[in-house]
Amino acid sequence: MRLVNNLYAYVWQGNDNNCNSYLIANTLKSNRHLLIDPGHITTPFYREPGLAELVREMETDGIDARQIGLIILTHSHPDHCEAARLIRDQNGAMVALNKAEEGIYKKLRGEVDVYLEEGDLVLGEENQLTLSILHSPGHSPGHITIYWPEQKVLIAGDVIFYQSTGRVDLPGGNAKALKQSIQRVSELDIEYLLCGHPYGHPGIIKGEEAARQNFDFVKRNVFPYL
Ligand SMILES: [Zn+2]
Repeated sequence: MRLVNNLYAYVWQGNDNNCNSYLIANTLKSNRHLLIDPGHITTPFYREPGLAELVREMETDGIDARQIGLIILTHSHPDHCEAARLIRDQNGAMVALNKAEEGIYKKLRGEVDVYLEEGDLVLGEENQLTLSILHSPGHSPGHITIYWPEQKVLIAGDVIFYQSTGRVDLPGGNAKALKQSIQRVSELDIEYLLCGHPYGHPGIIKGEEAARQNFDFVKRNVFPYL
């Protein structure tokens, strides 16, 4: 589903746990695509075909999955990153993540091509795309969020969801760090708050007011329990 400009959202529709994926089309050299968080190849419990479904939905948008040139992983939990290895093998796509996520990713047999640090990431040649990479730990140590200032888009991964936050009880989780990460991204100018899962809501929070209300709700109602 096209959200704005050349940004597409793929909200997970299955019954099992899997992540939402986001794609910025034709933005790399040779009109290749940037994909954020491809999710599972196959979901672990109900064996739903996560990657095949993502590819099928991309095709209905006229996007050729073989043209994925770069995969950014917000973090290395398998429900976000498992399919990256396969897309890399099949398309020659590069995989990028924060160095602090590398350990878990390598245990999942993933290989990393680019390490993303806090700062601007400039992609493409003619129509350059500038993204801000923010280190947003708390759910996992090297979790990043991706901010696209030109479109006021925040791809938040598992930092914040609709009326909830990412878990802090998994290895490397830290409640204080997550609160700080949420506080920091809540100060950005956001028109599209794009969450890593469709928990009770598609996870696409559209409009500055709706994004602000969601941050306020989480700070008021979820922070005291973190
Ligand atoms: Zn996660």
